[in-house]
Amino acid sequence: MELTSTQWLLSALLTLLAAVGISYFLRVGNGPGATESTVDGAATSEAPGNDPGAHYDQATGPLKNGLPAEVEVDRRLPPLQNQCLTCSKKSEELGKPLLRCSQCKNAFYCSELCQKKEWKRHKFNCSLFPAEGLKPAVIPITKELVTEIQRVDLILKTWLDKFSELTNGLKEHVDKVNAADLPEAVPICQLKLSPEFEYKNLPQQQLERHPFRNSLIQISRLYLTALIASHPNPEHRKLLSDKIGTIPLPPHLAPLYGPKIVSRPADLSPGEYDTFAEIAPTVMMEPEKVGMDENERGRWIGLAVGLRKLWNAALVPRPPAAAASS
Ligand SMILES: [Zn+2]
Ligand SMILES: [Zn+2]
Repeated sequence: MELTSTQWLLSALLTLLAAVGISYFLRVGNGPGATESTVDGAATSEAPGNDPGAHYDQATGPLKNGLPAEVEVDRRLPPLQNQCLTCSKKSEELGKPLLRCSQCKNAFYCSELCQKKEWKRHKFNCSLFPAEGLKPAVIPITKELVTEIQRVDLILKTWLDKFSELTNGLKEHVDKVNAADLPEAVPICQLKLSPEFEYKNLPQQQLERHPFRNSLIQISRLYLTALIASHPNPEHRKLLSDKIGTIPLPPHLAPLYGPKIVSRPADLSPGEYDTFAEIAPTVMMEPEKVGMDENERGRWIGLAVGLRKLWNAALVPRPPAAAASS
């Protein structure tokens, strides 16, 4: 199915505008990655061996809630994360700081074992962290990636089309329709990405109350990975990175660091994915400047609508009766 239609873009845009008006950051609640913290830059112990995946640094120092003033201390290093990328254990649970990948400085693990397990996936996102800043990792556009993107696009688009149809792009209708209760929302809620693209660093505790959140984070990660993969041009990446830095963020969203977003798109925290999906339509207001096409804009606008209408949705939609038996 061809998803490059202007129609999708227009209907998504209309629905987004109807949903939020012109004020941008209306969604309330905390992003799941609000524990992003600042960097102390310490890099000590290294594991032996030549495999970059077997190297790690000790991420020392207690984790603090990210404070804007502290983020300024060292913007060069990606911020600390407090969850193991592989098993999601938190540093508080372990009673010790996580290990930081010594090469990219942007992946965190509870143990060497967990690091080794994750390497197969992390290697696409891991590249040397040079003194002058982040160097983009190379992400191949595989057939599998394209197929997965199209599948997710279709799920989101089907829901959005139905929602747009019911609301007709009118603010008063948008407020009345419960977007989470549409049967078309079920596949979003139940989204399971193929293992290759699955994001494991998801907060589990919110699943019952907010069943859409983890799906939306996964979609954001998949889209961002594809976005960066399809924009190898350093100029475009630079513009995108700079643009990210200019967008003011409300305090409840995890802060974004442009060079990190474009260099490690598949290794961000849940909060960073959430934030990026929030600001993506703004970033793409001048798409030609960052080399984005209409298809990509439509995709991100669709996701932004999803964030506004489904993020806080508490209802678990009923699965279609026929889908259970197979
Ligand atoms: Zn672990
Ligand atoms: Zn790494």
